Amino acid sequence: MTEIAFIGLGNMGGPMAGNLVKAGRKVAGFDLVAASCEAAKAEGVSIAPTAIDAVKGAGVIVTMLPAGKHVLAVWNEILPHAAKGALIIDCSTIDVESAVQAHALAAKHDIASVDAPVSGGTGGAKGATLTFMAGGSEAAFAAAKPVLEKMGKKIVHCGGAGAGQAAKICNNMILGISMIGVSEAFTLAEKLGLSHQALFDVASTSSGQCWSLTSYCPVPGPVPASPANNSYKPGFAAALMLKDLKLSQEAAKAAGAATPLGQHAAEIYAAFEQAGHGGTDFSGIINYLREQGRK
Ligand code: NAD
Repeated sequence: MTEIAFIGLGNMGGPMAGNLVKAGRKVAGFDLVAASCEAAKAEGVSIAPTAIDAVKGAGVIVTMLPAGKHVLAVWNEILPHAAKGALIIDCSTIDVESAVQAHALAAKHDIASVDAPVSGGTGGAKGATLTFMAGGSEAAFAAAKPVLEKMGKKIVHCGGAGAGQAAKICNNMILGISMIGVSEAFTLAEKLGLSHQALFDVASTSSGQCWSLTSYCPVPGPVPASPANNSYKPGFAAALMLKDLKLSQEAAKAAGAATPLGQHAAEIYAAFEQAGHGGTDFSGIINYLREQGRK
């Protein structure tokens, strides 16, 4: 019998499903794209002809899909065929409202559910070092944790339905804003004749210190592993940062929270994407800021 069904075998889902196989679990997978199915098959995932076939008899179902509309469509399709007592976990990054709707849909079918978006990117998906931020009941989280531990390093229970998605978009709103802030500081430093290394040495041990500076520095040199040293190849693509910033702004609007810097960050990343840089690492925003400056 299939232990785990995995729907959505893309850049993240494929390697995550592969890690479940490596951990000794029997995994049936499905994706609309044949190439994704082939890649997952090579990792030991048995490919089902449809999503419904994949979930039949599975004790745990995992979805890793692009957006809320895909998650709701797939959950609507598969939940009527899920085994009694099954658990469903969505690891996609989606809007909080759709996540809450998905939990309600699962409850209607008497299926326990968890929203568990991730951070750590494709490297984390391959290396099973993802961070999972989970939302759902204590019981559903307790059942999901051993599965998530096979794909990640840190698993945090953030609260009830949708809390995982809320944590993800709040974190990424900080990240988007802070990357622009750090990039602005380097851009200003360049104009003032201050070297990248000098600013880094001061700010990384002063009150300007943050992850965008010390782990993901947007200029080449100070942090050798940052995408700036590799022509801004992602890493974390600017288009995905824009997606998450838009989700944060949808949530802020619905909840009545004031997030003016989050809004401005979304506008800046939208302009960067429109200029054709959606596939660039999000730290490449520094190049956009340089272009905006007076020559
Ligand atoms: P992806 O586009 O590579 O994969 C999504 C997969 O879902 C595709 O293979 C697509 O064919 C499949 N799919 C869509 N509709 C389907 C359906 N009805 N049935 C079956 N399969 C279907 O995207 P990804 O990079 O793997 O990202 C997945 C999710 O993880 C997104 O929500 C993304 O925001 C989030 N995420 C991505 C990263 C990253 O670095 N790539 C990091 C953190 C979170």
